[in-house]
Amino acid sequence: MSFSGDVKQELCREELTRACCARAEAYGVLLYCNTFSSREIRIITENDTFARRLPRLFERAFQVSFDRLPEKGRKRVFGMTAPEKLGQIINALGYDPSQHLVLHLNFGLLEESCCRAAFLRGAFLAGGSVAPPDKRYHLELSGPHAQASRELEALLADMGYAPKTVDRGAGRMLYFKSSGQIEELLTLMGAPVAAMELMNAKVEKDLRNGVNRRVNCDAANLGKAVDAAREHLEAIERLHALGRIETLPEKLKETIVLRETFPELTLAELAAEFEPPISKSCLNHRLRKLVEISKT
Ligand SMILES: [Zn+2]
Repeated sequence: MSFSGDVKQELCREELTRACCARAEAYGVLLYCNTFSSREIRIITENDTFARRLPRLFERAFQVSFDRLPEKGRKRVFGMTAPEKLGQIINALGYDPSQHLVLHLNFGLLEESCCRAAFLRGAFLAGGSVAPPDKRYHLELSGPHAQASRELEALLADMGYAPKTVDRGAGRMLYFKSSGQIEELLTLMGAPVAAMELMNAKVEKDLRNGVNRRVNCDAANLGKAVDAAREHLEAIERLHALGRIETLPEKLKETIVLRETFPELTLAELAAEFEPPISKSCLNHRLRKLVEISKT
């Protein structure tokens, strides 16, 4: 099963205990499912656990059952066209059945944080997907009702999860790219195991990137160390050729001997070879001095 499928399976383990939350979850499903109008509800899913949850969810939320239950197959279609059932649902959600359904978000149903989480769970079950943790970070909610999506966007921003957005035909997609946001949203909706998987994958990925960066960095430093050593050795060669070594102070002579003995060492390593060890900056100063003298 896909990672999205795993997440949906985990979300469906949430008990349908509180009536307020069942209604909020069903509300999220309706706004993000295939069709929700005053004439028809149609929910299509390929997810088995969600298909098992739907009838119970609608029973708990609205005390209604679907007219049409899915046949066996990959895509399960749940349908409802009976006017009295639709009226009951539309009423419960606070819409006016006589008006054409322009779907604003009814914030009254989402005041409690438990209900907000349930609403997001429903929206994700019907219109959400999330990329596998070893791939890129991406969680999206795609719904056909642009207005409701814009209002959900505001609600999410209010909760500290401002999504990115893109319009898709009449609908609108909200999506998240930050692994931290995605982890928190999954946990909030009721999928802490999936969130943990994402977190672990990120740690592993960061670790791998960190190691790569360090290796590249070491190689670059080694290159620099070699270039610096070459400059020092050339300066020392010139000093030899000019017969000036003996005129130099003891400290510089000592530095020359050690640099010649250990041409491959970095400054820090070379500084440690002195008796007693000197500081890297002190060594750097001495070597600069040698280069300088060799050019005069
Ligand atoms: Zn609630």
